[in-house]
Formats: sequence, structure tokens, C-alpha cells
Amino acid sequence: MDECFCGSTRGSSFEARETLFEREGVHKYQICSNCGSARLMESSPTVQDDLYGGEYGTLRESGARTAVRCLANCLAYRSPRLGESIGTILPFVNYGVLGVVRASQAGHKSRLLDVGCGAGRFLRSLRFAGFRGHCVGIDPFLCGDRLLAGGIQLIRGDISDIHGHFDIITIVHVLEHSDGPVRMLRLAREKLKDGGTIVVTIPLFGGTAWRRYGKDWVQLDAPRHAYLHTRTSLGIAASAAGLRIEQEIHDSTVFQFWGSDVVKRRGYLFPLQGADLSLLLRRLGSYLRDVAIAKREGLGDQSTFVLRASLS
Ligand SMILES: [Zn+2]
Repeated sequence: MDECFCGSTRGSSFEARETLFEREGVHKYQICSNCGSARLMESSPTVQDDLYGGEYGTLRESGARTAVRCLANCLAYRSPRLGESIGTILPFVNYGVLGVVRASQAGHKSRLLDVGCGAGRFLRSLRFAGFRGHCVGIDPFLCGDRLLAGGIQLIRGDISDIHGHFDIITIVHVLEHSDGPVRMLRLAREKLKDGGTIVVTIPLFGGTAWRRYGKDWVQLDAPRHAYLHTRTSLGIAASAAGLRIEQEIHDSTVFQFWGSDVVKRRGYLFPLQGADLSLLLRRLGSYLRDVAIAKREGLGDQSTFVLRASLS
């Protein structure tokens, strides 16, 4: 990607390693001097195989993990305040997007599409928490179409393969994996009902964790992340797709500091070890303080954005 989606080719570059599983390879990113995003320029080809398989997780089926996630997300859906407290410590609780879906007061006739749904854990959590609308998930990595309990429909494919229109489209930790963010948002907009909402959760580049940890920042996630966006770059992508940012929810978590500390110490994150959990418990107080400061200053490493169609 010689050119950023914003049209600029200028910027400074850096090289990063894969730090979730310590796979070999070096990945070159460029920080765009126009929109501030960091985009993947080159990747050593030997490490491209199976980046999303195995332990990466979105397609894994684990009864215990799904149950814990459903329970935590259920609490977050029903009580936004409790959700923020739990979600600041447990990064798999999507309290930002859950709060937006809850506030939409969607009824049983509402239609929700989750883009990049994996095994459907987010949709199962929503159903379990009491969301009554029709739930559809789409993911190109699924083995085939599936119908889950509660009438949740999972479809293998891209957004363009979906029929019908939706009141809410959630894109949670997916947009950063795309080297065509404008195309993805435009396709989502085409599937939106009049007055509908697109909810995007992404890591944000350039905040406190990036400044503190640099290439050990855990949400850099080279080379899976093709674009690390900024507020500015998301705004440009949204505008090019006929959307506007209506709201930003700062929902970063202690993971930005704890996960980065683990990577900095050991060189990789998974599998987690007992010492990592001890580190979390020992430093939880200071991590929580740092999260609160980063959020207040708009420098947390993640946000959920509410997008609506631009007035034409
Ligand atoms: Zn740019």
C-alpha cells in the first residue's frame, strides 16, 4: 500500500514484529503525515500463513469461554455503569458497542448485522442479554452458513453477499484488518436502513500506550492490522463512504498497559502465564488510574464510534 486511503504518500516508517505468538518476520508500517494513521506497507511473506487460525481465537468454540463472555456482556448490556467497570478490566467485554445497541432500544422487528462475526460470540451475548431483534453475522472465514440457538443466522461471506437492510450494523475490531476501510464502510452504508446506525470499534493509533511502549504496544498487532486508525483517519474514511461520526465512546481498557507490559518483558503475549496474571493484580490500581487519565485526555488506545449516513 504505497498510498494511504486518504490519498497521501508522505510519512515516516517503522518496522514491527508479530507479538501475539512470536512468529518470525518483520513488517513495515508507514505513519501517514496527513491523517496520522499507520498502515502496513510490506510484510515478510513467510509469516502470512494462518494468521487467523489456531489460537487467534475468533472462530474458536469454547463452552466455558463463551459462557463467561456471555455473562459479562449480559451485565454490561443491562447496566452500562457496571459494564464500564467490568469492561475496563476485561477487554473481551465490548461495553462501548453494547451501550450503543442498548440505547437504540431496538425492538423485536429490528435487524442487526455483525460484520466479522467469527463464531458469533458477540451475537450470542446480545441474545443472552435480552436483545430481541433479528441477528445476522457475516464472516469470510466461516466454514459455511449456520443457524445458532435463538435464531442467530451466521453467513459465510462479505458484506456484499448479504440481502436486506439493517437498523444497526456492528463492526467490532474488524475495520483495522481491512486495507480498504472506505470500501468496507461504503458497503455497510449500502446495507443500512434509513435512520440506521453503524457502530465501529477500533484501536486508535498515537495515544498514551503507543507513546509509552512503541512497537510493543499490544494493539499494534502486526501484521494482522492493515490500518491503525486515528480519529482523523476514521473521519476521512467515513466521509468518503457517505457517513459522519455522530458520537465517540472512549472504551479503552487496562489491556493497553498490561498486555503491552507483557510483550515488552517477554517479547510475545500468548500463551499467558501465571506471572502475567500476578502482574495484572499487582499493578491493577495504577493501570486503572492510567486508563482514566488516557480516556480523559482522549489518548486511550481504543474507541467505539457511532456513524450515520450523511445528509445528502
Ligand atoms: Zn492518510
